[in-house]
Amino acid sequence: MILYTLHGNGYQDIAQLSSCQGATVYVNLTNRCPCACTFCLRQTKEMEEGHSLWLKKEPTVEEVIQEFQKYDLDDFKEVVFCGFGEPLERVEDVVQIAGILKHFRRDLPIRINTNGLANLIHQRDVTPELKGRIDTVSISLNAPDAGEYDALTRSRFGKESFQAMLDFASLCRQYVPHVVMTVVDIIGDEKIQRCQAICDELGVKLRVRPFEE
Ligand code: SF4
Repeated sequence: MILYTLHGNGYQDIAQLSSCQGATVYVNLTNRCPCACTFCLRQTKEMEEGHSLWLKKEPTVEEVIQEFQKYDLDDFKEVVFCGFGEPLERVEDVVQIAGILKHFRRDLPIRINTNGLANLIHQRDVTPELKGRIDTVSISLNAPDAGEYDALTRSRFGKESFQAMLDFASLCRQYVPHVVMTVVDIIGDEKIQRCQAICDELGVKLRVRPFEE
């Protein structure tokens, strides 16, 4: 499933919608991710065998564009790069796809949901590439300090991950109009306040999401 939307607690192929009017459309590009978050089920066997978002093969840019061509972009409320992996593993493809979508509809809002580790993945600063293509970057902050972040995300980059993720947020501000960091509400008020202080210092918005099992 390449283009999907959220439906209740699950995911629905947008081909199954009677109308895409007002739909938020998610683009599922990859299963790859440098993290193994304790709360992420993507690496379990059940997911690999039966989950509709698990990709047996990554779609090419051409295949993604062919999917979009089946629909009227004017119908969409927003396009979000977000799947069962880290979309910025394929940063060049994300930028290319977003550029093509913007060519056909300049005011189409485009967001990336990311773990914020793209600069470690690619060993370069990728944030300038997002300019003019991406309207919102939503970064999973997860925790108020490196120790907790490491324990939760189990990033393969280890200890440098937390600071790299904060630096990524800061760099994005130069090129992306809206930079948001997210946490889930179950971390509790005290940690949420510390996360708010981090976001205030970075000059980005904090979004506290309700936790879903
Ligand atoms: S960063 Fe996202 S995709 Fe990667 S392991 Fe964590 S929750 Fe899963």
